[in-house]
Amino acid sequence: MQTITDYLGKSARDNVIAAIVKAKENEAYHALLSLTEERALERADAVDRGEITGRLAGVPFVVKDNFLAYGAPTTAASIMLEHFNAPLQATAVEKLEREGAICIGKANLDAFAHGGSTENSAFGPTLNSHDKTRVAGGSSGGSAVVTALDIVPFALGSDTGGSIREPASFNGVVGVKPTYGTVSRYGVVAMASSTDTIGTFASSVADAELVMDIIAGKDVKDMTTLPDFFSPIGTIEPGRKVGLIKEFMTEDVDSEVRLAVTNYIARLRDAGHTVEEVSLPIVHHTLAMYYIIVPAEISSNLARYDGIRYGKRAEGALTLAELYGKSRDEGFVTENKRRIMIGSYVLSSGFFDAYYQQAQKARTLLIAELNKLFETYDMLIGPVAPTPAFLLGENASDPIKMYLADIMTVPASLAGIPAVSVPAGLTESGLPIGVQIMGKRRSDAQILALARSMETK
Ligand code: GLN
Repeated sequence: MQTITDYLGKSARDNVIAAIVKAKENEAYHALLSLTEERALERADAVDRGEITGRLAGVPFVVKDNFLAYGAPTTAASIMLEHFNAPLQATAVEKLEREGAICIGKANLDAFAHGGSTENSAFGPTLNSHDKTRVAGGSSGGSAVVTALDIVPFALGSDTGGSIREPASFNGVVGVKPTYGTVSRYGVVAMASSTDTIGTFASSVADAELVMDIIAGKDVKDMTTLPDFFSPIGTIEPGRKVGLIKEFMTEDVDSEVRLAVTNYIARLRDAGHTVEEVSLPIVHHTLAMYYIIVPAEISSNLARYDGIRYGKRAEGALTLAELYGKSRDEGFVTENKRRIMIGSYVLSSGFFDAYYQQAQKARTLLIAELNKLFETYDMLIGPVAPTPAFLLGENASDPIKMYLADIMTVPASLAGIPAVSVPAGLTESGLPIGVQIMGKRRSDAQILALARSMETK
């Protein structure tokens, strides 16, 4: 795969045209919902004329289609926003553009980022980069696949419960979910505000670090952003203490996934780090917490799509209630509706204490358990998902089965800690497997430096 350096110093127009040609050749994967060709070429010419300079001058990239960006509609892969042309750009996109990067297209996702396979896109699924009969993972499936197919050297995604890490693992690329608040969420369609994070896919850790360095930082438009703390570090000292989460290495987990993690650990030990088994018993409850808290926030965030103030307005409604109902029925996919219903239920009076508040209390316990481990360990390690990419349709009709694929990624989301998914080999049949490294809050640079030091390419 090409890295960012391969694009620098070349004709920006050539870079953009090459990326667009490659995107068109790979249309069968359905990784992109739109191309921003015209705007990309204009920007490329401005770079070539020397009017735009920066650390990413002339480097093409892709954004998940829940990021507001110019040059094509921002659909969030939904009928609700099918024709929505953004009046502004997400801060992350603006920051990349200021460094001369050029957005060439918008990537497919599960509608409103609800899902783990990209099968919930209102416009059809994205196919896995290594096996077209399998899912790309999700919800940022399109961004992972364009990176894996080498169409662009990096692509932005959002990760609320695993949506960068899981597709990164399924497609053999690096995926970074930073500490909550590292990157501004301004201009990204909200899913669950307390766990939504913005991060990147890249073909190398160094590239991911560069992109994170550019997009991270305080933004007055997002009150939850942290003052800029992220700065890539040179080399990681040997002697890091790493904890292997034993609940993620049981018999239920695919044996090839476990083997990949075991091999990675052997290499960590060879590099002079200590790896010990640790226990995080509360992980058995994290899916329950996640699938209460996240739908609650979804039901609140999606309330704005009423067909009047926001979103597609349905035809033929006779009353106001009918207009709301029809617009929301036509604009949302089944999974969106399921989450709105669960969310409204757990927030309703009578159930709020029993579900939502209990889940928040349990979340506090999870954070406490993790903090306890981080008193002894610098980082935690484990698989990204219990299996490699599953078959298209395999989990699609069974939401619980689909949710189970998130078991290893939701803890970092609920705790707001950074986590990275790095390629750790292939199964015998050629499917990528990722390893997940997690760290304490704001240790993003450390986990990335460790991952970089372990890269084999
Ligand atoms: N698969 C998870 C879910 O369905 C994660 C989604 C996300 O991170 N956007 O909620």
